[in-house]
Amino acid sequence: MPAKSDPMICSQCGVEMNLHAEKLVEPTNAQEAARLDLALGGLIEEIYTCPECGKAHSRPLS
Ligand SMILES: [Zn+2]
Repeated sequence: MPAKSDPMICSQCGVEMNLHAEKLVEPTNAQEAARLDLALGGLIEEIYTCPECGKAHSRPLS
């Protein structure tokens, strides 16, 4: 099992957001391209949603 990443906190409500999905994204700059997952051909982003306000936020998988 991979280690659980740090919880994402909603900037509006201050509650822990739920991991909703992971998606593969194309790198859009050299910095992102350097972190590219060669096996997948892209970068993985985690999509979080807030249980309180429903706001969605994404961040690159670290
Ligand atoms: Zn919220």
